[in-house]
Parts: sequence; C-alpha cells; structure tokens
Amino acid sequence: MTARLEVIVGPMFSGKTELLIAKLHRAQYARKRVRIIKPAHDTRTQGFIASRAVRPDGTTEVTDTLSAVMVRTEEDFERVAGPGDFDVLAVDEAQFFPLDEPLRDSLGWFGRALRRLLRERRASHLRIIVAGLDMDFAEEPFGPIPGLMAIADSVEKLTGVCMICGSDAGYISQRVIPGDKQLVVGDAGEYQVRCRSCYAPR
Ligand SMILES: [Zn+2]
Repeated sequence: MTARLEVIVGPMFSGKTELLIAKLHRAQYARKRVRIIKPAHDTRTQGFIASRAVRPDGTTEVTDTLSAVMVRTEEDFERVAGPGDFDVLAVDEAQFFPLDEPLRDSLGWFGRALRRLLRERRASHLRIIVAGLDMDFAEEPFGPIPGLMAIADSVEKLTGVCMICGSDAGYISQRVIPGDKQLVVGDAGEYQVRCRSCYAPR
C-alpha cells in the first residue's frame, strides 16, 4: 500500500482529459472518493473538466464533463486538499500552475504541495492523477509538468494526429496565430497539433 502519482501528458487534442475522465469513472465505480481540481487560469471551462472531440471541420465538441474545484493559490489548494477526505485527487490542465519567480525548483508551489501530500499519505491508497501539456507552443517544457513527470510513479505520454501530414505522431501544439504569450488558453483554430517534422520552430 503506497500513495501514487500518475501523470498524463501530450499535446492538445491527444485525449488527455478523456483518459483522465475514464480513470475517474473507474475509480467512482470502485466507490473511491474523487476530488477534481483545475487551475483558475483556464478561462475556457470554469468548474468542470471536459474532454473534447475534434470534428472533421476542425471545430470541437465537448464529449464528457466532471465537476471540478477551481484553484488559484496555495491557500485554495489547502482548503480543497487539506481535509484529506478523498482517495483520488485529479488535476487537469496542471501546466497553468506557475513556477516561482525567481525560479526556485522545477515544481513550483503546486508541485511541492503534491509532493508534500504524497509524503504525508505515503502509506495509503491515495492516487494523484495529473494531466497537462508537457510543452508549450515554443517547444519549452511547460510549468510544473516536467518536474511532476520526474517524481511520478507512472507517466503516459499521448500523441495526437498531426494536422499537416496526418501522421499519428503529433507531439506539440503549434500556435498558428501570432503572439508570444505562453499563457494564452487556446482552442482549435489557434493551435494545431503537429509532428516533430511538421513543427515550425519560431
Ligand atoms: Zn506531420
């Protein structure tokens, strides 16, 4: 019996949230108490996590949702996770939890809080499942995700379909509208999944 950290990464539209939701449905069938949190920086979906399917015309539709608690600060996190009344803690879009300025480590307050929780409840069935983008559109490791991948028990790296050549090796979300700000929350139309060969470095 030991606490576990599972990390799901990949580009946009690679099915990360779909996989997260599937794992959570299974946990709920097994009568596990599930708590879901999201960074409050994601302005697309407030209060729930949503898996999306891309239609042939490039637009997206929401296929499944589960309600989530929005977390902006470490205090918010402590309010949600502090009571410890859950068996599974799920986090979606975790790349938006910021690292420290100046940079202190590769976890930031959020990654350190998860590590602390895993230490405190190490001899338990606690499962923490984190999903997020492993890279931003400039091919840089994104927020606390690389650090979380390092301390995880398991990492699932998903791929999408490259929107240029159609290969199944889409590994990055290429930004196709101008701009340099990392924290732009995009959707289909602003970003395209591309393979390494079709990705155009900026
Ligand atoms: Zn390609």
